[in-house]
Amino acid sequence: SISTMEETTSRSSSKVVAVVGGGLVGALNACFFAKRGFQVELFEAREDIRRARHVKGRSINLALSHRGRQALQHVGMEEKIVSQGIPMNARMIHSPSGKLSSIPYGKKGQFILSVDRANLNRELLTEAETYPNMQLNFDHKLQDWSAETGLMTFARSDGSVQEIQADLIVGCDGAFSAIRKQFLRRSRFNYSQTYIPHGYMELTMPPVHGEFAMEPNYLHIWPRNTFMMIALPNLDKTFTCTLFMPFEEFEKITTGEEVMEFFHRYFPDTIPLIGADALKRDYFRLPAQAMVSVKCSPYHIGDKCVLMGDAAHAVVPFYGQGMNAGFEDCVVFDEMMEQFKEDLSVVLPEYTRVRVPDDHAIADLAMYNYVEMRAHVNSRWFLFRKLLDSF
Ligand code: FAD
Repeated sequence: SISTMEETTSRSSSKVVAVVGGGLVGALNACFFAKRGFQVELFEAREDIRRARHVKGRSINLALSHRGRQALQHVGMEEKIVSQGIPMNARMIHSPSGKLSSIPYGKKGQFILSVDRANLNRELLTEAETYPNMQLNFDHKLQDWSAETGLMTFARSDGSVQEIQADLIVGCDGAFSAIRKQFLRRSRFNYSQTYIPHGYMELTMPPVHGEFAMEPNYLHIWPRNTFMMIALPNLDKTFTCTLFMPFEEFEKITTGEEVMEFFHRYFPDTIPLIGADALKRDYFRLPAQAMVSVKCSPYHIGDKCVLMGDAAHAVVPFYGQGMNAGFEDCVVFDEMMEQFKEDLSVVLPEYTRVRVPDDHAIADLAMYNYVEMRAHVNSRWFLFRKLLDSF
């Protein structure tokens, strides 16, 4: 009704919400707060990725599922993002001998989507910019902030420092959150961080004669006991292959010949598709990347600050739910804002109460799956089942 809208606007308009981190969750969250009428300031450490030629960072593409799509729908972006994704209706399992078998996701017609991370991030920032009550501040790296006053200190690349105050600070600055550092100094804040022994490396499988080198509407999986590879399709008809393997194993391979031996032994069907020269080169292009699981509680400090996305709960990627859970955080918070009439002193503790158990459950499931996969190396069937559950 009109009266509710006016109420909402007058409640929110004078308040400043600072969203720290303009990654996937921060950019989406900024839209949620802007939609409510808050004055939103988004602070991102990097330059505007829409202008950057090379976007550094994690996984090139990721799987968007139901939870994530629902969150996008709330800000009117579901259709657009879905149209730029590639449906994956099933997993395609590649056996060591090159045999293929597909296992569908859920019922007929159900699928998850392979989406380009950088593109999704760009679209979310562009959407955020359409709100008149939104200010995007790039090249603003949060250094410190005060839980008492809400004063934040940002470092700029020219060496200058900027101090900014906000009524609510929303920490969406990822697994190594600078916002979270203040939480760590406080009493009764629980925190744990675990690196798994596995790392990951991304390799590109180019198109063949202008077409996808493998069937595109699948999430391809090569399960190989202690390690595995997966591949997700991209709009440019490439696949991004991700090799998950213990760091120890990555480090054993030091020459191009050793890369080829390894691939001949475990992923022979991918050699002609990735290309021997590319394999020998790209394996050494970047070191394998670490994966961390972070759990903490509470997610808020008073009525001043709240953590969302990886800042609150980084999970290992064996469930494909990190971003999706972060997107869902935004929806859950927004619903509570509605329910409790934007009273932050009520919403923030309620958000912690409701969200911590759910996010911890996702973190546990992802880690459980990862551990199970390694523990049951001798039980092929068990391993197989576990892999299917996770992707
Ligand atoms: P991030 O994406 O890390 O963004 C944080 C932002 O904050 C960045 O832009 C960063 O520059 C900025 N920042 C950091 N510090 C500061 C600071 N001090 N000041 C200002 N800004 C700062 N999830 C899925 O749902 N599906 C998948 O298929 C999937 N696959 C994955 C595969 C791999 C290999 C990995 C590693 C992860 C995968 N994930 C997946 C998880 C997903 O990547 C994360 O959950 C998601 O990126 C979290 O988004 P975020 O915005 O919370 O954090």
